[in-house]
Amino acid sequence: MAKSLDNNEIKKYLEQSKFLISDGYGPGIPIFLSKGIHVVDFFNQLFTCALLESNINYKKFNCQQLISKTDFENLYSHINDYSGEVLSFGDNMLMSDPLAQTLKEIKKNIETNGEVNLLTISSIFRNKSRGLIPLFKDRNIFPVVQLDQGINDYDFENNLTSLKKLYYNFYESIGIKILFLEAKEVPEYAEYELYFLSSLDNNFTKLGMIYKLSKKFNLNYGITSQVSLVNSGFSGKTLFMSIKNFSEAYNKNCLPPYLIASKILLVFDDLSRKDEIEDELDKTGITYVSQLHNKKSFQSWKDSEMFYFILVHKFFTLHERNGQVYEFDNLYELLKYLENNLRDSLNQSFMHSSEKLQCNLEGKTKNVCLNCWRGDYYGLILLEAPKQCERCGRDIDRAIFTENSNKRFY
Ligand SMILES: [Zn+2]
Repeated sequence: MAKSLDNNEIKKYLEQSKFLISDGYGPGIPIFLSKGIHVVDFFNQLFTCALLESNINYKKFNCQQLISKTDFENLYSHINDYSGEVLSFGDNMLMSDPLAQTLKEIKKNIETNGEVNLLTISSIFRNKSRGLIPLFKDRNIFPVVQLDQGINDYDFENNLTSLKKLYYNFYESIGIKILFLEAKEVPEYAEYELYFLSSLDNNFTKLGMIYKLSKKFNLNYGITSQVSLVNSGFSGKTLFMSIKNFSEAYNKNCLPPYLIASKILLVFDDLSRKDEIEDELDKTGITYVSQLHNKKSFQSWKDSEMFYFILVHKFFTLHERNGQVYEFDNLYELLKYLENNLRDSLNQSFMHSSEKLQCNLEGKTKNVCLNCWRGDYYGLILLEAPKQCERCGRDIDRAIFTENSNKRFY
């Protein structure tokens, strides 16, 4: 069985390593220290890079933290009652969903633009109190990374294909394997629901989703029903899972190098080779911060988020977060080691995540088509390669996810 770390252990690690503040906050409301904010910023940046690569022409939209109650009531009119989960400030309330603002913006632009893609990175508040863990399950959820789209109905399938590719690649780049799960949990809210299924310990978790919003939202905003409103994204839970998954695979509580802007603290005994070494490092694209060696260098690395400590003296001494120390006489051997190590640590995390997911899925899916299936099911898992129905032999591209259909999981 693949190793699983307790969620509270990761929380404790994040507090002790000065990522989150460890006291002075209410249950479930994390306060980030600068290290935490650096990582969150870089995490968001990774997603915006993935968006650019996928050619989705998005506009960044800045949300307000307070929104008017009227807007919120309009958003969910005839859809759901979330009034028990919001906090009021006079006629306003603390933002608990960027949708109230993004749908307004889509309405404003959809007729002239034909298509609107809005990226929001926000912090939202839900007045819940049970089982809170910073970054994992919070009152204050941060970051919430959301792509809200207004597109032509006939573009829905093409757009869905691009979104699946975008999210799959993004998760792979942070060491997490996901499968897509179609379900029908919130039919009033969404016409189509696709969740990003991953493993959590010996169970499953949904790390994010793509919703085709129900036409009731079109009605509430006076947007023609020819427009598909698509809402997709993920939250800090994805960041938390990336850290947890890496820590499990690496056997040490640690921030993964792929979530860190500067990977190396490069410390020089003297500056004679500084330019030469920095030039060679720049060619590899591996990021670093360099400084002259002093007696606090090593400790400052330990306190930082950087993954490697490299001391340049007669040769090169490299320290890794798991306590391993390596010596290299030759710069090119060092660079080769770094490139391989960065690639391998990402692959290992991804493999770890993938194995856990496969292992948890054992006995939980059936390769049976819907015509042949009798009984309840939670949803359908999109297969990565087509299979045959075990009963009628027809080709299938979805497997039945037989997890208890009444028990929603988080
Ligand atoms: Zn069949």
